This record gives sequence, C-alpha cells and structure tokens, in this order.
Amino acid sequence: MSDPNAIAILQKHFQYDTFRGSQAAIIDHVVQGNHAMVVMPTGMGKSLCYQIPALIHGDHAESDGTPLTLVLSPLVALMKDQVDALTARGIDAAFINSSLDRTTRIARYEEVASGRYQLLYVTPERFRKDDFREVIRKRHIALMAIDEAHCVSQWGHDFRPDYSRIREIRSFVGNPTTIALTATATRECRSDIYQQIGIDESDIKLFHEGIDRPNLALDVVHVMDNDGKFDSLVETLRSDEYRGGSVIVYFSLIKTLESFSDRMLSAGIDHVNYHGDLPRNVRRRIQNEFMSGDCEIVLATNAFGMGIDKSDIRIVMHVETPGSIESYYQEIGRAGRDGKPSLCRWLYDQSDLMTQMQFIEWSNPEAAFYDRVYTLLREHNEECRAFGLNWMNGRLQRVAKHDHRLATVIAMMDRHGVIAGPHEPACFDVLGPLPEELSSDALLGEKKRNDQQRLYAMVQYAAAEPEARQAFFNDYFLGEE
Ligand code: ADP
Ligand code: MG
Repeated sequence: MSDPNAIAILQKHFQYDTFRGSQAAIIDHVVQGNHAMVVMPTGMGKSLCYQIPALIHGDHAESDGTPLTLVLSPLVALMKDQVDALTARGIDAAFINSSLDRTTRIARYEEVASGRYQLLYVTPERFRKDDFREVIRKRHIALMAIDEAHCVSQWGHDFRPDYSRIREIRSFVGNPTTIALTATATRECRSDIYQQIGIDESDIKLFHEGIDRPNLALDVVHVMDNDGKFDSLVETLRSDEYRGGSVIVYFSLIKTLESFSDRMLSAGIDHVNYHGDLPRNVRRRIQNEFMSGDCEIVLATNAFGMGIDKSDIRIVMHVETPGSIESYYQEIGRAGRDGKPSLCRWLYDQSDLMTQMQFIEWSNPEAAFYDRVYTLLREHNEECRAFGLNWMNGRLQRVAKHDHRLATVIAMMDRHGVIAGPHEPACFDVLGPLPEELSSDALLGEKKRNDQQRLYAMVQYAAAEPEARQAFFNDYFLGEE
C-alpha cells in the first residue's frame, strides 16, 4: 500500500494516475527516514522517488523554514530544465550552479538562507564555496538525493572527482536520509557508492528494477573500416524502419565525428554536431534544437546525452567502440523511452579497440608519472602558478603533448585531497603527500586492469548471439547478486 499522501501529490502536481514499478515502495521507504539505493533504467522515473518525498517533507514547515531536499547532480547543463519543469508544476524548487551571474546567485543564497524552497539542486563542487556552506548550514536538510550516483565510483565510466567528497558533504549537512540513484551500477560500483557516501551496506536498501528494455533492438554490425561504417550508417538512416523520431550517432573521437560530418554533408544528410570542444553556448543551442525536434540527427561524443529526456529517440548508433558496457548501456538507454520499437546499432570494427586501449593508457598513468607531477608542483610551484597547466604539460612530456595523463593525475590528486581542487589555481595548492593509491604501481595497475576488463566485456558482447544480448546485460549488471 502506498502512502495516500504520495498518490495525492503524484496526481495533483504531476498529473499521473499511478506509480511505476517500485516508485511507491521507494517513496514510502525514504519518507520514513530510511536510506535507499535505486537502480532503475533511464527514463523510468527515478526523479519522482526523491521529488515526492521532498514535497511531503516540505509540507511540514518548521520554525527554521521549509525542510529542504538537497539534490546533488553532476548535470549543470540540465539543472535549469529540471527545475523549470518543477516550477511549471507549481513546486518551489531552485538550482545554484556556475551558470548564475553574481547578482542572481547572491539573491538565491539569500532566499535559501531565509528558509525558502523545498528542493535545491546543486553540484557537489558548490560545497567548496564557503559562502554556500554558510547558507546551507542554516537549513534543516530532510533528504539528500544523489542523482547519477555512479559518478561516485572511481571504477565507473563517468567518475567526477567532487563526487568523492560526498561523505564530507553529507556529514556537513547532518547526515540526512539519503537516496542514491543511477541507471547502471554493478555490485562493485554499488559498494564503492556506499563507501563514498559513508553508509554501511546493511543500512541502505537496494531497489533494483532490473534492466530489461524489451522495445530496444540490440544490434551489432561487424564492419571493416570507416568506409564500411559510413555505408552502414547511411543505409540505416535511409531505411524506412525506425522513422519519425530522433537519432543519436555516437563517436569516441572528435576527429572521426568531424570527418563523418563532412561526408554526411556531401551526401546531403542534415545533422548537427555536439562535442566537448564546442563552446558552451553552442552546445546549449544544439541541445535545445535537438530537444525541440528542430534537428533529427545529432553526431555526438559521450559529452552528449547525460540526463537527456527525449522520449522519441528511435535510433542510437555507435560508430566507434565504447569503452565499457556501463557507458554503452547508459547511452543506448536514451533510445525508445516512449516504449516504441527503437534500434541500438553498434558498428564494430576490431581496430577501434586500439583507440580505447590508448584512452586506458592515458587515464592510468604510472606511479613514476604521478611522482614527476607531484615533484614539479612542489619544487616549481611559483612557475606552475605563473604559467599554468599547459606549461606543466610541456615540462613533463616533450613529445606527446596531447595525451591526457596530466589531467588524470590532477583529477586523482584532487580526489585524494593532495591538492585543493581540480582546476587552476586551486590545483596548485599542495595540501599533503601522495597517498599509497597514487604511488604504488600495484594499486594503480589494479585500476588499469579493471578498465581493460571492462573494455574486454565489449568484445564479448560483440561476440554474443543476437538473441543473447539482453541476457548478456542482465548477467553483467545483475549476475553477481
Ligand atoms: P530517469 O531519471 O529514471 O531517467 P525521469 O525521472 O527523468 O527518469 O523520468 C522520465 C519520464 O517519466 C519523465 O517525463 C517523468 O515525468 C515520467 N514519469 C515518471 N514517473 C511516472 C509515472 N508514475 N507515470 C507516468 N510518467 C512518469
Ligand atoms: Mg534521471
């Protein structure tokens, strides 16, 4: 039996008749003050699992204002949309992130301090700001929601350094009831999440919705080279099946994306491009065009799509091999949220594995490289500050300047509290020594092997019989239960 209050709120604010799957059970559990770990396929409705408890708590005003639900989300780009959708439903919600200008930010801080809002969306980075900490300290946090919780996990495909500060953040806001949510988390990733948020596994209940997506056709096409890929892509886009909706075509490398874009232009196929090298306002515009249906096809790197809630994506294609089953499953999970038949087609060329193996090298520097970066920071700190990370990169490696090892080292040192932050200038403040995790080749090697195994799982997926592909995912994510 679900809380009559919860149903009433669902119908009044969200205009839905009934809960889906375990939404009602999760809401009851959380409203009663219990921690929850929610693993639910993308598009099923994870947000309601904390939004409705937020409204239930928020209805009981206290002397120090409305009990607040704090939502930690990595998605700066999408917070505004999420909050706009809530305010359009008459819900008192707001976000605070780096996109606000100073005046707006200060005004919002004041509103929060004065007890306003039932839901507040922030990135974990916000807790680096003392003025924000002052403000949030004034509130009673009734519930903390950690969206896209897999970002906590160092093993995960979307690791965000600041997510590893969540235990400290939780404790700062008084260790409130906590709900963590993600679409994909293996047992290993879940353990990491519990550890990072500082809750014992026996104190948090797992709600696992399974991961079946029966309307997705899971397809792997074996191809030889880029010509083969291009032909296959065009054939897919021109076929009559899976028409009438949007298409995402994923690439690993911007340069491949751009060369395919040129070829598509020559072939007269309209599309837009989205990748991390484009300025923020351009990315924003492209995302809006895509969401509103003004453009049907987007060529994208994995920078595109986290949190995208467009129901009629008919085709998700991968032109290059993704680095792990976790990221692949997350990306194809954006297809067919309206329940209609949709195609997930991966164009698999074995030689793509080289690119991914290169990524793995870059994201797993050896202990000696950590040591060199650390020494440079200690011994030439003034120059590092004066000339910046680019200069440091030049000092560290004279030949291959464009690998991402320095970025990895900085992110990892930040995560372990060796430096004060992941960006300039905070990254130049050295706070302590390199811990064993970053100076032992045995430990660093373990992480690298883990990355390699996750890539190897893609190879195994490619080899699976077509009718065994969904079972492969089930086994991968749930098999160890
Ligand atoms: P997720 O975070 O799991 O990817 P969202 O919370 O963004 O999913 O929800 C996806 C969509 O499903 C949203 O448009 C949401 O309003 C809708 N939705 C959620 N729960 C229900 C429900 N019980 N009935 C109908 N629609 C729902
Ligand atoms: Mg979500």
